[in-house]
Amino acid sequence: DTLHIDGQVVLVTGAGSGIGHAIARACVAEGATVHLADVSDTVHDAAGKLAEESTGAGTVASHVCDVRDKDAVRVLLDDVVAASGRLDISFLNAGINGVPSLLQPGGAIDELSFEAWRGVMDVNLDGLFHSLQHSARVMKKQRSGSIVVTASTAGLRAEPRVSYPYVASKSAVVGLVRQASLELARFNVRINALAPGPVVTNIGGTGPRPAAAVAAWEDSVPMRRWGRPDDVAGLALLLASGASSWMTGGIHVVDGGASAL
Ligand code: NAD
Repeated sequence: DTLHIDGQVVLVTGAGSGIGHAIARACVAEGATVHLADVSDTVHDAAGKLAEESTGAGTVASHVCDVRDKDAVRVLLDDVVAASGRLDISFLNAGINGVPSLLQPGGAIDELSFEAWRGVMDVNLDGLFHSLQHSARVMKKQRSGSIVVTASTAGLRAEPRVSYPYVASKSAVVGLVRQASLELARFNVRINALAPGPVVTNIGGTGPRPAAAVAAWEDSVPMRRWGRPDDVAGLALLLASGASSWMTGGIHVVDGGASAL
């Protein structure tokens, strides 16, 4: 075990599903104390199942928290520290993509509603701001910590199959991570971002995806398949752990080779 996150205190936002859930599960398997937070109260069941399947020393707690609510985020971070004494690793992962892409009806720049724009920005950018602010508050005081943010390859380039606010929010996330790395480095706090390509999760809704859209995505991935949440969790744990002790301010793609094209 080269990651050595056993016994560390971990927070994961958006932990009830998809990538966040896979990260939480991997941390429990490594023996960490893991706090799962999500806007959906299904997070309690998700955490219960992780606790049941855990065979090692890892422990699990769950919190309902909407990252758009800055007071709720402050309380979340205070609750984690009250329960576990500190916060070593913060995975800031909550995000949505609930609006039409620019190829879909209603997705063009002159058609997209301001409400749709704001809805995505509220979670992906403002929600990250609140979670980053309060994670940094705790970690600066400790003079240690590692923050891993879930950005997206859509934050690094234009992407026809994604919406305007998604691309804009994830591009802003990239800037926020880089800027925070400047400040946090002297407090021994690192911050890095994951930039996943297309991963099979609930982010596009739980229904079947149109075959043509699935095929178009696959064409854009040299490894010829969508990612699975577990494909992303490995990189997330590496960036969180001491195995990446001289890495900060980086944006790291995990995309089946799509960025090589
Ligand atoms: P998902 O929908 O399976 O999981 C996201 C979780 O975040 C859900 O449990 C949801 O309830 C929660 N959430 C939504 N709004 C929230 C809020 N306001 N407060 C707290 N929790 C909230 O989707 P996912 O694909 O696992 O998404 C996780 C992250 O990965 C997101 O930031 C997403 O943008 C990013 N991402 C996903 C992909 C992909 O293809 N799936 C690619 C790149 C980046």
